[in-house]
Amino acid sequence: MIQEWKRGRVQRRLEDQEGREGLRRIATWIHVFRGEAEARIPRDEAKLCADMAMGRYSCVGKSHSYNGVQIVPGVNAMMMREGGLDRLDYDPATGIATVGASVSVEQLKLFLLGHKRRLINSGNYMQQTVVGALATGTHGFGDRAVMADAVTSVTFLDDSGQRHTLSRGDPEFPYVALSFGTIAPIVELSLETVPTEAFISTSHVNRLSNLRALQKGAIASNWCILPYTDLDDPVMMLHALSPFDPAVKTKKERSGGGFFAPVARWVIGKYQWLDRWVPKWRRPLQRFIHKLNVTQVDRIITDPEDLDYLYDPKKGQAKDRAPDILRGCFSTTYTGYNLAFFVPLEKAPAIVKFIIREADGLRDLGFFLKGVISVRELPGTSDLVFAANHTQPMAAIDLFADPRDYAWLERLQRLVMQYEPDTRPHFGKSALMPEMRDSLGEQHLDRLMAIHRRHYPQGRLMFSERVRAFLQTGKPLPGEPAADANLA
Ligand SMILES: Cc1cc2nc3c(=O)[nH]c(=O)nc-3n(C[C@H](O)[C@H](O)[C@H](O)COP(=O)(O)OP(=O)(O)OC[C@H]3O[C@@H](n4cnc5c(N)ncnc54)[C@H](O)[C@@H]3O)c2cc1C
Repeated sequence: MIQEWKRGRVQRRLEDQEGREGLRRIATWIHVFRGEAEARIPRDEAKLCADMAMGRYSCVGKSHSYNGVQIVPGVNAMMMREGGLDRLDYDPATGIATVGASVSVEQLKLFLLGHKRRLINSGNYMQQTVVGALATGTHGFGDRAVMADAVTSVTFLDDSGQRHTLSRGDPEFPYVALSFGTIAPIVELSLETVPTEAFISTSHVNRLSNLRALQKGAIASNWCILPYTDLDDPVMMLHALSPFDPAVKTKKERSGGGFFAPVARWVIGKYQWLDRWVPKWRRPLQRFIHKLNVTQVDRIITDPEDLDYLYDPKKGQAKDRAPDILRGCFSTTYTGYNLAFFVPLEKAPAIVKFIIREADGLRDLGFFLKGVISVRELPGTSDLVFAANHTQPMAAIDLFADPRDYAWLERLQRLVMQYEPDTRPHFGKSALMPEMRDSLGEQHLDRLMAIHRRHYPQGRLMFSERVRAFLQTGKPLPGEPAADANLA
């Protein structure tokens, strides 16, 4: 608890500096990666160009990525969210919205609501910049799950400050629309929107073995499992969306648990809270839920105007309400390090079972998975070359651990990659490693670098060392400790 309070204090100090130019500490969400950079605020495009001309630079959105993809120490960091590139337009004739690089996902969603429109898909948090979120392949679940899949055109500046616009149909567009900071700054982009609509949202507490049966008729699913319930058939919470049908009624069903059922349901309802504040109870409580074999079904109709219906189907936003089970299981985490990667869709249940076995085997070393293992299904495919589901339908697996344990998550990711070579990275959450070149395609990465070099011949656009290693750009640049120690 003291650690959390300390982290909160550091975070507040960083937030106090927002909007200020000069040497600043830039940290990832949960602060596992950090560095000092010269913050520059792009109040408009002319100021952005002038700042770019000053030397090496990088782009930071809201700095909400976990894995350090946005951190480049020692350069001029263009703090895009704090700038004034806040264009927001909507064209009713085409249904296309245009958005500037300083705009957050929440601002865009609220703006679209005024036109009775919504994004096709989205992640479960809304404070990121739209451009930053799209650049890392941020996704939701169900139809066209990768947000960047909706992009129709991208406008970026080259290193002489020249504007370039690429639209769908241009051979380079599928590379640039999701390019994790290698083509930057993107100053604005346009994306498809769809009319607001209601869905039937059904949540289940059940067993993983019943996943496919319970998903019948659903168009979008995310599910999570309690990792310490049962290694063979863990307890699962499934959230499935189906098209709205006025004939379908809301529903609430409970079964199992016997005499202790109310206690088990209370534990399920308070799971996230208990997991956070009494971690020592995590395993016993999960075993208790497992033994009682409770099941439940809740079916509700979502509000067409609800901004977060994908993760919290009740009216209004989850952040404005007391916690409930869905919010508890799929809500943002403020305390855990989150590492995620994508695996072929049909293999997700087996990979989850593999992870819980591995994690269980590490308990004696003090490692534990926090909360749940969450899985979001990306059933279609995308034309964007670096989208998770470019080659086949995929599932995003999200793991959470105490920040001091983040390296254990990297180990689990490595193990999964060893057994499942088609594992693909989330550019804002995976541990980015050169081994991922194969699953992304060497030829595609080389093509991206060729596009990069053509637009940034002066070599001033910098991206994080992990991305540089991953893209094989040569020797690492000296970070502060390496330079101070005369190692580089
Ligand atoms: C609480 C929380 C919940 C999350 N939920 C989800 C989720 O549900 N699904 C999911 O997929 N991800 C999720 N994420 C991950 C998050 O969406 C991504 O990491 C996203 O990139 C963060 O956006 P940002 O604006 O903070 O970008 P940053 O982290 O600041 O930057 C990300 C990348 O974008 C580049 N970039 C930023 N701005 C520009 C620009 N103008 N031009 C070119 N490049 C630019 C940066 O250089 C960097 O490479 C979550 C993260 C958090 C903290």
